[in-house]
Amino acid sequence: MTSQALAISCEFFPPRTEKGVLNLRKTREQLQVLQPTYFSVTFGAGGSTQEKTFDTVVEIQEQTDFEAAPHLSCIGSGRENILKLLQAYQAHGIQRIVALRGDKPSGWAGKIGDFSYANELVEFIRAKTGTHFHIEVAAYPEFHPEAQSAKKDLDYFKSKVEAGADSAITQYFYNADAYFRLLDSCAKRGIDIPIVPGIMPIANFEQLARFSDICGAEIPRWLRTRLKDFEDDKTALQDFGVDVVAKLCERLLAGGAPGLHFYTLNQSALILNITNRLGVLKRD
Ligand code: FAD
Repeated sequence: MTSQALAISCEFFPPRTEKGVLNLRKTREQLQVLQPTYFSVTFGAGGSTQEKTFDTVVEIQEQTDFEAAPHLSCIGSGRENILKLLQAYQAHGIQRIVALRGDKPSGWAGKIGDFSYANELVEFIRAKTGTHFHIEVAAYPEFHPEAQSAKKDLDYFKSKVEAGADSAITQYFYNADAYFRLLDSCAKRGIDIPIVPGIMPIANFEQLARFSDICGAEIPRWLRTRLKDFEDDKTALQDFGVDVVAKLCERLLAGGAPGLHFYTLNQSALILNITNRLGVLKRD
């Protein structure tokens, strides 16, 4: 198998400083070897980094041979602002969007802005721009932290597909069975869009534990305990992490995952080590 048969994508966050911008350019150049289908750029709900998302996406779209996809979260936004942003992206030739609700600000009670859930954003994008955008949405193998129940979470996921999503990217996870169960549940509900697993390399235990607590991704007990053992030995932790994540990717691909979406944290080294281990991703 080569990268041509696999949908590889890489996610960045918008850098805030000039140094960060230069680092991201270097990272992006190093990851081009994977021939990604697209590079995506996250979007901070409600504020400060939103313009930086736009600038980063446009730079990738205009200065590389690769497609750039903005994330767009709708919580707290109005229809007019979202429409302006969609039109600006269209004008820059962007054809793919990762459509999200975004995390609720703390203390949130009730509706803020014109959208409450991501299915409404997907519906809005379709209503205003027809089939122009390929729309990606989020999926949660271990369920969203606010899920009322597993069944409801899956039903709401289906509502995003019915609203017009073309494919999905999952929250990261280290338990392959949770992903395969998600695929089974979706198949039973007649959901047939590609669901690409989101892959988080293991760079730093404290940071990973913090992210995981916030987003509801589980670090299995055996893995958490092993990672704690490395304490300050960052190289040994990362080598172990590459091994764990490469094996996870192998299992996911062998079980039918249509591709891999890497959460890069704007770094390339671990992802290149993982993909080298897989031995299936580089073009000659
Ligand atoms: P939704 O699909 O709307 O679901 C949110 C919750 O509401 C779920 O618990 C669901 O079960 C429930 N729900 C859905 N519809 C309904 C309904 N009609 N009635 C009642 N309950 C409902 N966040 C950012 O701010 N910026 C980013 O760039 C970003 N990128 C991400 C990329 C990926 C691949 C993933 C997986 C997540 C990303 N996130 C990002 C995080 C995401 O915004 C949060 O997880 C957010 O809390 C939920 O977004 P969603 O689009 O999945 O929401």
